[in-house]
Amino acid sequence: ALAIPAAVYMLQEQEAHAAQMEQTFIAIKPDGVQRGLISEIVSRFERKGFKLVAIKVVVPSKEFAEKHYHDLKERPFFNGLCDFLSSGPVIAMVWEGEGVIKYGRKLIGATDPQKSEPGTIRGDLAVVVGRNIIHGSDGPETAKDEINLWFKPEDLVSYSSNAEKWIYG
Ligand code: ADP
Repeated sequence: ALAIPAAVYMLQEQEAHAAQMEQTFIAIKPDGVQRGLISEIVSRFERKGFKLVAIKVVVPSKEFAEKHYHDLKERPFFNGLCDFLSSGPVIAMVWEGEGVIKYGRKLIGATDPQKSEPGTIRGDLAVVVGRNIIHGSDGPETAKDEINLWFKPEDLVSYSSNAEKWIYG
């Protein structure tokens, strides 16, 4: 068999990782901001090995909140939810990494903090569903839509970090 140089294997591995790279939209809701949980939440994504590629502090308008939650407009809590999201500063973020959409949801925990496992963000840090401190996209399509709603393409920074080779091998 032909000997394939190690450098080629490494390149193939890097390409395989690059192909699985995903981005997800994560927001710390006004309750999380007011409770001083920004660094706690950012730290959980960061320590896992995910990469922050966009972040801003924003007070969404009610109309903007309605757009963000348009899928839920028939639900009885929709109006209160949109009032709440627009009631104060939100930390809007885009996180990147392999499997970040699905695993981000795992880090966050179940919608109702009473049903979130200990160890998850909502399990550890929240008590009721109407004040569950964080939002995360629930799938690839929503992730794309939400990133486009909250950010301009040029707000997303593409960079490589030295830790990546230790996170992905
Ligand atoms: P998730 O945020 O986990 O994706 P959903 O998309 O179902 O959950 O709901 C969006 C948000 O609406 C929840 O995070 C929560 O803040 C709020 N919400 C969901 N269900 C209820 C409820 N029964 N009462 C009040 N607020 C709710």
